[in-house]
Amino acid sequence: MNSMDLILQAALDERALSHLYRRRLTHSGPQKPLLQVEGESLLAFCSNDYLGLAADLQVVSALTRAAYEYGCGGGASHLVCGHSQAHHQLEEELAAFTGRERALLFSNGYMANMGVITALTHASDAIFQDKLNHASLIDGGLLSRATFNRYPHLNYDVLEKRLIQSQANRKLVVSDGVFSMDGDTAEIDRLSRVCQSHNAWLMIDDAHGFGCLGENGGGVAEVYRASQAQLPILIGTLGKAFGTSGAFVVGSHALIETLIQFARPYIYTTSLSPAIAEATRVSLSLIQAEGWRRQKLQALIAYFKNGCQALNLPLMPSSTPIQPLQVGGSQQALKISHALREKGILVTAIRPPTVPDGQSRLRVTLTALHDFTHLDRLLDALSDLAPLFVEPVERQS
Ligand SMILES: *Cc1c(COP(=O)(O)O)cnc(C)c1O
Repeated sequence: MNSMDLILQAALDERALSHLYRRRLTHSGPQKPLLQVEGESLLAFCSNDYLGLAADLQVVSALTRAAYEYGCGGGASHLVCGHSQAHHQLEEELAAFTGRERALLFSNGYMANMGVITALTHASDAIFQDKLNHASLIDGGLLSRATFNRYPHLNYDVLEKRLIQSQANRKLVVSDGVFSMDGDTAEIDRLSRVCQSHNAWLMIDDAHGFGCLGENGGGVAEVYRASQAQLPILIGTLGKAFGTSGAFVVGSHALIETLIQFARPYIYTTSLSPAIAEATRVSLSLIQAEGWRRQKLQALIAYFKNGCQALNLPLMPSSTPIQPLQVGGSQQALKISHALREKGILVTAIRPPTVPDGQSRLRVTLTALHDFTHLDRLLDALSDLAPLFVEPVERQS
């Protein structure tokens, strides 16, 4: 091997030794509870397709119809000639859905977060983020060159103290709405009051709340009835409950125009496929019209939580479709995940650096396409494996 490969291989070997090595599963067919993985049909509990819209026939036919009308690719960036009527209509519908003045589409959530944070903050500013925020928010904060603060998870007293101490020009407070690896939620009302009292701007990334939470699927903003004034910067992604791909930012006219002018991950990239935008318009209407999907999900969540409680499993506190079982050590989490796989069940072990050291877990996610017999199969398997959850926590190297 040449010297680059030797150096890289040493780091890869080290990752494997600490049980942190990642492997990709290759599946075929649609994202459904029974997932076809390498010739096997596995009962999967790891998809973010919470409402079962990714393979919904109405969404799929909107995609194919629009592909005949617009073609496949966006063809250019939005500011050159890639901004289609499909994108524009979806933006207007997202603004109406969230009760905001304007909406702006991005290619994905990672880029939306990078774009918003870097367009709004510079070296003389300060960013305050919940310690458990999604990696894309953290990376946006680092790229902005603003002073970077991470407050303890959901600890708004500490946040408030730091806001009071800060001499920064602009202050941006950033939090997940629903925390992606924990399933708990930010307290938007408290957070909003703290921000308003200290002249800070609040940004919420509700990738996992949209579609799942709120009477109409409006996420944490709807649950807390947070207006544009209370929650001025709101992000949603389209790859989770919407079942398509892409992301959006909603807020004031001035916010959206600022992003169009200054957000580099918006400007210097090809627009989302217009056919995806058309498919998303249909999934947005289904999110609002088909409340049964959320009701089914809530019933499944309650059933799973009861089942875990009866088995005395270390379920983390969450009332969202993200229902993680705390394990601790990475090796142990992998062991349980492998044992489930042998029983035909797919639940991924989530390990550092995605979660803090010593907090590896099995992240169970539920979707409206699961049914109670699926949950019985999972609970039976977990019951057999229950002793593995109480092993002493391994030392992290
Ligand atoms: C998934 C996720 C993202 C990234 O969205 P993509 O569209 O998949 O790039 C951003 N933020 C949170 C909280 C997420 O869970």
